[in-house]
This record gives sequence, C-alpha cells and structure tokens, in this order.
Amino acid sequence: MIYDTIAAISTAVGEGGIAIIRISGPDAIEATARIFRSRIDLREAESHTLHYGHIADPKTGEQVEEVIVTLMRGPRSFTAEDVVEINAHGGVVAVKKVLDVVLLQDGLRLAEPGEFTKRAFLNGRIDLMQAEAVIDLIRSKSDRAFSVARKQAEGTLSKRIKALRQTVIELLAHIEVNIDYPEHDVEDLTSAYIREQSDKALDEIGKLLKTANEGKILREGIMTAIVGRPNVGKSSLLNMLAQENKAIVTDIPGTTRDVIEEYVTLGPIPLRLLDTAGIRETNDVVEKIGVERSHTALEEADLILFVLNYNEEMHEDDRLLLEKMADRPVIIIINKMDLSGKLDMDEVERLCKPESIVRMSVLEEEGLDLLEKTISTMFFEGQLDSGDLTYVSNVRHISLLKRAQQSLGDAIEATHSGIPIDLIQIDVRSAWESLGEILGDEVGDSLIDQIFSQFCLGK
Ligand code: GDP
Ligand code: ZN
Repeated sequence: MIYDTIAAISTAVGEGGIAIIRISGPDAIEATARIFRSRIDLREAESHTLHYGHIADPKTGEQVEEVIVTLMRGPRSFTAEDVVEINAHGGVVAVKKVLDVVLLQDGLRLAEPGEFTKRAFLNGRIDLMQAEAVIDLIRSKSDRAFSVARKQAEGTLSKRIKALRQTVIELLAHIEVNIDYPEHDVEDLTSAYIREQSDKALDEIGKLLKTANEGKILREGIMTAIVGRPNVGKSSLLNMLAQENKAIVTDIPGTTRDVIEEYVTLGPIPLRLLDTAGIRETNDVVEKIGVERSHTALEEADLILFVLNYNEEMHEDDRLLLEKMADRPVIIIINKMDLSGKLDMDEVERLCKPESIVRMSVLEEEGLDLLEKTISTMFFEGQLDSGDLTYVSNVRHISLLKRAQQSLGDAIEATHSGIPIDLIQIDVRSAWESLGEILGDEVGDSLIDQIFSQFCLGK
C-alpha cells in the first residue's frame, strides 16, 4: 500500500543543540532534493548514507540552515518507506523554518502524532504489540522499564504470542478436518487432542498473565506510602531513597497531581512515593500521623513502609495502625538501630509477620539492601534479577489474553459435556482471534487510530 508523504520534527521541541526533521513516504527523497544544496544529488545517493549541506528555500534561494541529511530507502527504514532525516543544528527557530520549507513542497503534509510508527505497522514492519511498546519506550521511567519496553519493541513478546497462536491454529485445523470428514469417526481422539492442545496454550497464557502484574509495577512503579509517627525518620528515609534516584521524572497524562509523587529506584525496583510533600515537611511539630493520610495510604498504596523508632517505646497509635494494616502489603521498618533499644521487639513480632520486618539505620545507611530484598520477595517473588525481561504490561493485551483463556477453558469444558464439535470450534476460533488482535490482525481502524493517538508528534 502506498501512502502520501509526511514530515514532522521528531526530537523534543525546546532548546537543544540538535533537532531532527523526519520525512517519510514516496516523495521524501525528491522533495528534500529540491531544497537541499549539497555536492551530491540526493536522488542518486545510496541508501543509509549521510550528507552535509544547506537547506534553502527554492523560491527565494535563501539558505535557511546548515544540516546533515540521512537517507534511508525503503523498505530498510523505520516506516518501510523512503525516509529522510534532516539533522538541524540550530535552535527552535531554525528548525521550524526548515520544517516550513519542507512542508511547502508538493505532496507533503505534517505528520499526525504517532503516524511514523503507524506507518511501520501498516506497512507490516512491526506488529501492533511492538508499536505499543514504542509508546512505553517513550514513557518509561526506569532503566528496567525501558529495557522491558525495548524487548517488546524488538518483538520478543510478539514471538511468544505467535507461537501460542500456532498451537491454537493447529487445534483449529484438526477440528475443521473432523467437521469436514465426520465419517472418520475420530471423536474420542479429538476430544483428547482438544484438551491437550488447549492445556498447552492455557499453560503459556497463564505464564504470560503472571508477568502482567509485575509488568504493570515496572511500568508505573510500586505505589509506596511512608507512614509513621513524627520523628521516626520518614523524611530521612525519603531523602536517602531520593539520593539513589536514577529514575527520570516525567508527567504521566491522566494521573492526578494533588498528591505529590516522587519516582525513585531502589536497585532495579521503581518506587512511586506518595505524598512526599507531607514527608518533606521540615517542621515536624506540625507533622502528625495524619489519620486521613494513613487512610489514603492504606487504601491506595501497593506498598506501605511503616516506620518505627527502635529507640522509642511503641505508641498506642502504632498498635492501632499495625492492626489495621495486618492484611495490607506492609513492611515494618525498625529505624535507628544504631541507638539503644527501647522498642519491645517481641511485641512487634507478635503484631506483624517476621519476614516483613526490616531493621535499618537511615543515619548510618544500614539496611537498604535488606529493604530492597524484602520488596523484591514481596512483589517479584525475589525473581527480579532473573534477566527475563518479557512482561505483558499493556491492559489491552491482558484483557485479550484473558479472553483467549476463557474461550479455551470453555472448549475444554465442552469436550467433557458432549457438546457438538462445531460449537467447540467456535470457542477455539474465538481464542485464535483474540490472540490475533494482540498483534493487530483483524483490529478495526478506530482502535488503531486510538492507539496511535497516544503518541507524541514526530514519532
Ligand atoms: P520524621 O519526622 O519521621 O520525618 O523524621 P526525620 O526524618 O525528620 O528524623 C527525625 C530525627 O531522627 C532527625 O534528627 C534525624 O536525623 C534522626 N534520624 C533519622 N534516622 C535516624 C537513624 O537511623 N539513627 C539516628 N540515630 N537518628 C536518625
Ligand atoms: Zn519528616
């Protein structure tokens, strides 16, 4: 399929040393050649080469900007079309001027957000799952989330879905043969085969869904609340975590900003610390336990870090909170272990699970590794460093996997209750279709538009 030619600034808009204008489509090379003054004629240049020159307005002859042009002929390009990238070195104004000149060329128009990636998908260079990973790449907030998204963009997850689909299509083919040639009378054999193949597929779907929760956490960070009475060391802990911070802080559309959040990483674990304004409060006299805040934390947080002071006896408030948090994912941090013990540790151990107790001295930077290990066990069964970066993290993928799971479950069920094979076929076919939708087969235009509209301009 041949589309028109699109152009956009592909780097972040703002003051930067360099900006790239990307042009993709059948007229990309011709249009650029018309405005590019260089020793070489771009039309004759080889693919995957760089060329130095100037962009000039063909009408006025005015030289607009000194540039380096990259030429990539389709299909060996990101969009699988002819692609030209103009690397401009000046500031915002110069880049906009270049784009203006580019867009004045016949047959060119400004790209919509995500349109380059959409073309890569429509031209069959990537599947929908890979395209969606490009969005995640742009938004990822930790090294690990980035690596996970990159794996998905490379197609690691797509491969597993394709293999899964293969299992289901084999089953479907077998059933269809059976429907077409019923005189073969392989009914019993077929039932066993349906169960066997469905189980095989269900096993893999189960594995993929298990990674979903971990994937979500990696993408969004573990929503973490630090609570505890004044002076136990909450601010100090927060500051220490923030020092470790290697996460890039960005705005995620759709998240409320009324609680101040901070992204930090503890080893490979991304944490999203809630209500940091309240904890940062230096005037600890006004900092109360904040019943309301604890409430919110109790309900919304994925993880509660409840800090106690080793150098202090337990307070009635602590007991109340500990009781309330019994069923919540809570880690009890016994802070100030460098001081003498006044806290009744027997009581603490009676009130909460021993494996959730972490002894620390924030002052002496002791215990951070144990905290990391405890969180890792709690959320990743300690497997976070296994190196397997295949995670299902997209809600669309998760719901389609669940749908396929349901359909295959129904198929197995049906073999037990003597339901006619052509009805079982419907279940199996529906599983096959759900899996296909993940990769972008048989999805409607409106869904595709909706997915790509989440992109930023120039991607
Ligand atoms: P918050 O009220 O819970 O935020 O507590 P802060 O972080 O403001 O700490 C209260 C006081 O305890 C400060 O003077 C800290 O320096 C001190 N502190 C924090 N952590 C430790 C620790 O591990 N050992 C000791 N000895 N003092 C600490
Ligand atoms: Zn504080």
